[in-house]
Amino acid sequence: MEQGALNALLFFSSTAEDPRQNYGNISSVHWAGRKLRHVLEDARDALARTLGLEDPEGFFFTSGATESINTALKGAYFSAVSAGRKFRLITSSVEHEAVLESARFLESLGARCQILPVSSSGALSLEALERALSETSAGETVLVSLMAANNETGVLFPLAEVAALTRKFGALLHLDAVQLLGKTEGALGLGEFSPHMVSVSSHKIGGSKGVGALWVRRGTPITSLLHGGAQERKRRAGTIYVAGIAAFHAAMEALSGRDVARLRTERDWLESEVRRRVPGVSIQGASEPRIANTSNFLFDGVRGEALLMGLDMAGFAVSGGSACNSGSILPSHVLMAMGLPKDAAASAIRVSLGPSNSREDLLAFVDALEAQVARIRTRTR
Ligand code: PLP
Repeated sequence: MEQGALNALLFFSSTAEDPRQNYGNISSVHWAGRKLRHVLEDARDALARTLGLEDPEGFFFTSGATESINTALKGAYFSAVSAGRKFRLITSSVEHEAVLESARFLESLGARCQILPVSSSGALSLEALERALSETSAGETVLVSLMAANNETGVLFPLAEVAALTRKFGALLHLDAVQLLGKTEGALGLGEFSPHMVSVSSHKIGGSKGVGALWVRRGTPITSLLHGGAQERKRRAGTIYVAGIAAFHAAMEALSGRDVARLRTERDWLESEVRRRVPGVSIQGASEPRIANTSNFLFDGVRGEALLMGLDMAGFAVSGGSACNSGSILPSHVLMAMGLPKDAAASAIRVSLGPSNSREDLLAFVDALEAQVARIRTRTR
């Protein structure tokens, strides 16, 4: 059974002796609905604690970070436009597609979007951010939307500096914090960056797929995207996915027992072992501060698709750029933004370690990787 669903099942079986007790619709006024409300409140509290944000009521649940991000960006745009203000979005070239596609959509509606460059190691250009922010004029809403950590390279963006700049120029700040949870040591303390909105996803920490949350600071002007019932204080209409939220909560609780330092040690060991045994390898973003579990490898002369297929046959699930509809691999926009040519950007592989991966797993992976890279190089020589 999927881990998230299992978490939800465990949660519900631990909260009621009779499973029919959990039948109600959380928004109903009758007892069966009312008695589930604590599930939401407990999950909001856990989110606020985990992310270090005050005001748990600022969270509402969504179908995932894609929806949270769409709501943050489009909600801010619609609110600005309906107040007769101009709207400008500042974001980076390595954001998740949910941000970049929303930016393209907003541009088609007349919003101005500025996409900041990154360096060849994936670092954000703070000079470019400051330059963009300094253009801010009266009567303009500026939203800066940046990821805390990149999903392909693991590179962390400098949130303290970003926060200082957005504060200085009075811009709104949305953080895509999806890759941060469970992958950095210590408390997240996002509150110290005074964000206006924060997006997170459940399935990235072992919760159910199809659940996420958006945190919105009180008073931040955003328009709801889903209209209908009065759920989530009218911020998002629609029947609430209680089991998924319970699983999200259970996954958050499990994070406190996660040894992130061990994860980082294992990831670093994996990288040094790959460098030692497989010639012609580079690791994208390795010189920057990164989250603990991600490695982005590129092997000279090795097509990513062939390598992914070989590793798949050997039982390892790793990712490439992004899969297009035909199942083949499109060049990664992240790696192209870091200056890699198209061919190379389609050939890198992303390895994400989970807390259950053992040293034996990693050794078996390096054995398979070494064999596959050698096989592909011999064939294409
Ligand atoms: N943002 C980042 C950085 C991600 O890694 C992902 C998912 O991979 C998303 C947003 C979208 O999240 P979801 O799958 O919950 O829609």
